Amino acid sequence: MSDESIKDITIIGAGPSGLFTAFEAGMHEASVRIIDSLPESGGQLSALYPEKYIFDVPGFTRITAKDLARNLFGQANQFSPELRLNETVVSIVDKISSEGPAQTLFEVSTDKGVYLSKAIIIAAGLGAFKPRSLGLPEVGRFEGNSVHYFIREKEYFKGKDVIIVGGGDSALDWVINLIDTARGVTLVHRKDTFRAHPNTIQQIGELAKRGRIKILTPFEVKEVYGDEAIKGIRIIDGTGKEADLRADALLLMLGFTSDLGPIEKWGLDIDDSRIKVNLNMETNRKGVFAVGDIANYPGKLKLILTGFSDGARAVKSALPYIRPGDKVRHVHSTSLKIFSKTS
Ligand SMILES: Cc1cc2nc3c(=O)[nH]c(=O)nc-3n(C[C@H](O)[C@H](O)[C@H](O)COP(=O)(O)OP(=O)(O)OC[C@H]3O[C@@H](n4cnc5c(N)ncnc54)[C@H](O)[C@@H]3O)c2cc1C
Repeated sequence: MSDESIKDITIIGAGPSGLFTAFEAGMHEASVRIIDSLPESGGQLSALYPEKYIFDVPGFTRITAKDLARNLFGQANQFSPELRLNETVVSIVDKISSEGPAQTLFEVSTDKGVYLSKAIIIAAGLGAFKPRSLGLPEVGRFEGNSVHYFIREKEYFKGKDVIIVGGGDSALDWVINLIDTARGVTLVHRKDTFRAHPNTIQQIGELAKRGRIKILTPFEVKEVYGDEAIKGIRIIDGTGKEADLRADALLLMLGFTSDLGPIEKWGLDIDDSRIKVNLNMETNRKGVFAVGDIANYPGKLKLILTGFSDGARAVKSALPYIRPGDKVRHVHSTSLKIFSKTS
C-alpha cells in the first residue's frame, strides 16, 4: 500500500519523543505522518513499563507510563497526524522535488508501503527492539494468546494462574503487581539470586514466606504445553529434577534485545549505537533529524524530558526544509492562533 500525498514531516517512532515532536510540528502548522513498528503508540512507556509510575516528568508529581503515553497521544492528536502502526521503516531515499532544488523530498519505505515527505525526524529510541524468548520452538504458537512479553492491562490476568519467568526488576515488579489480580502467581528463575532492586527482592521473599506467591529457583523451563492456549510448563533444575506446573498464562520477562536494524544502513553517522546529531538535531543527511534516545550529542541524557526538548528543536530546524525562504520565528504556544482552531 502506498500513499502519494507528501507530508511535511515524517516521524519514525511513536514513543514519547516522537509523539511530542508530532505535537510541536502540528503547532507549527506542519503536516505529519508518524510510523511505528509496534501495534500501539507510546514506545518504551507502553511496551516495557506501562503500569510503573514515573516521577520526573515536569508538571506531574507522578504519572503511570501508560497515562503519560495516552496524554502525549492526545496532545499530538489535536492536529490529526496520520498514524501508521505495525509498520517498520526500512529505508529513506532522497528524491528530486518538483518544487525546485531548494525543496528536499524523501521516499520513506516501510514493510507495507512507500510515502513521500519533505523532512524526516527519527525518534526510534532503542531501534527496533524485541523481547528475549525461551528458545523453545513450541512457544511461538502460544504467543499473544497465553504467552506474553508485555503486560498492557492487569485485568486480563484476573482469576488466572500466572507463571512469571525471569529474575530482573520487570519480573519481580510484575509478581507484586499481579498478586491481587491473578488467582496464583509463581516466579521461576534459572538462578538462586535476583538482579532487582533490594527492596523488591525483600518484598518478594516476604510474600513467599506468607504463602502469597511461589518462588521456584534454580529452574529452567524445559517445555511449554497446551492446546489452543497453554495448560502448563515443565521445569528442570541443574540436577535433572523436573516438575510440572499448571498455568493459564506465561509471562516471559527475560529482557529485550535491541538493535538499530535497518537504521544502520541509512547513511547516517552512528556513534555508540545512536545517531550523531548537532545541537540543532541535524544528522549528517540534509533534511533528516534525530531526537530522543536514538539521538546522540555531547552531554545527552536519555530521559523522557530530553526527548521533548529535542523534538521542539528538531521541528524548528526542519521548518526551513518544509517552507524554504520563510523566516523561522520563535513562538510561544500561548500566543498561537492555531489553538483556537483545535479547542
Ligand atoms: C523500565 C524503564 C523505566 C524508565 N523510567 C524512566 C523514568 O522514570 N524517567 C525517564 O525520563 N525515563 C525513563 N525511562 C527511559 C524512557 O522510557 C526513554 O528515555 C524514552 O522512552 C525514550 O523515548 P523515545 O521516544 O526516544 O524512544 P522509545 O520510547 O524507545 O520509542 C521509539 C519507538 O520507535 C519505534 N521504532 C524503532 N525503529 C523503528 C523503525 N525502523 N520503524 C518504525 N518504528 C521504529 C519503536 O517501535 C518505538 O515504539 C525508563 C525506561 C525503562 C526501560
